[in-house]
Amino acid sequence: MTASQTSSYIGRFAPTPSGHLHFGSLVAALASYLDARAVGGHWLLRMEDLDPPREEPGAQAAILKALESYGFEWDGEMVRQSDRHAAYAEVLNRLFNQGLAYACTCSRKQLEPYHGIYPGLCRNAGHGQEDAAIRLRVPELEYRFTDRVQGEFRQHLGRDVGDFVIRRRDGLYAYQLAVVLDDAWQGVTDIVRGADLLDSTPRQLYLQELLGLPQPRYLHVPLITQPDGHKLGKSYRSPPLAADQATPLLLRALRALGQKTDSEMVHASPREVLSWGIEHWDALLIPRTLSVPEAQIR
Ligand code: GLU
Ligand code: ZN
Repeated sequence: MTASQTSSYIGRFAPTPSGHLHFGSLVAALASYLDARAVGGHWLLRMEDLDPPREEPGAQAAILKALESYGFEWDGEMVRQSDRHAAYAEVLNRLFNQGLAYACTCSRKQLEPYHGIYPGLCRNAGHGQEDAAIRLRVPELEYRFTDRVQGEFRQHLGRDVGDFVIRRRDGLYAYQLAVVLDDAWQGVTDIVRGADLLDSTPRQLYLQELLGLPQPRYLHVPLITQPDGHKLGKSYRSPPLAADQATPLLLRALRALGQKTDSEMVHASPREVLSWGIEHWDALLIPRTLSVPEAQIR
């Protein structure tokens, strides 16, 4: 497809500042960037700073610096979720007043035997909002969608998820609520992100349906994993993205996404690698798998 100025595609990258960007984040950022730019679309940047206690000091600045030194250019001003609390509160109160969400006072200990699937203990308790988590009631229904890479994905919300938290007991808004409101507010048409979020998508589809919001297209790229199978994090072989490694790491990220690279490109600037990546982008080449061990990527 050729790029056009009139593309209605709006994509985004939405990092959480709980740490620096690592190779796995680069793969997700690159995929969303190339998928947007290959069709002349917009690419937005949103800082998902919902959880100050888990934010690493300096991480926001480090993320911006890494994106810049790797040649990424985003459209418009970066949005911070910490500036969006009023919008989240408005929707949360509406859901609560409509009885679609309710207050839950269960302790972690009480919920331990249920392995993360909330059994609905507080559903009809009529607790007030103070000192309670707010949970969204889920229907006993299966939600399904077709991911552009992973294919058909389905999940039964009642059985596999249960009523889920949209505001924590400590008052912090949950990712699931914020991400749905912000993607709709920013007009995002295409969500390209790591496959660790595949099983959050049905919850997000339900929220979109409940709130009358449009459903974006989804593309989940394989998660880059450590030798022990865990998501890349701050530990083994996942140092911050060094500015002087931009070209080789962008080329490696392209290969992780199944894209062909050219040996000439090792001498190119990060921007040149990105331009080349835009021109040759083929989402159909992305490996149709949930994870790829980092060690397997040349
Ligand atoms: N903030 C999330 C993360 O860093 C990504 C959210 C999303 O792309 O929906 O894992
Ligand atoms: Zn409860």
